[in-house]
Amino acid sequence: MIRDLELAFVKLHILYHADNEEVFGVGLMKELERHGYTIGPGTLYPTLAKLEKGGFLTCKARTVNHKQRKYYRITPAGRSLLDEMKGKIEELYREVVNGQ
Ligand SMILES: [Zn+2]
Repeated sequence: MIRDLELAFVKLHILYHADNEEVFGVGLMKELERHGYTIGPGTLYPTLAKLEKGGFLTCKARTVNHKQRKYYRITPAGRSLLDEMKGKIEELYREVVNGQ
């Protein structure tokens, strides 16, 4: 159950960061670790693929240091999803954390 809930938070982090800059797998794993989430490639890459398939992220492959790397950015649909979720996060925070 904790994984289900954390995965939803992870998706929100991904959308947020992909809105601010180009993101890629290893960079996201480090960023998420900083937030206390231990997400392996076996979870992260399928999650990125799912967000891309849903039209919330776009992906561009580039070669960096002889390695193919996939870079992701948010799409307009991803941005409106993120905006909608911001309202829900605020509402949830108000009740669950502040008890209001
Ligand atoms: Zn973050």
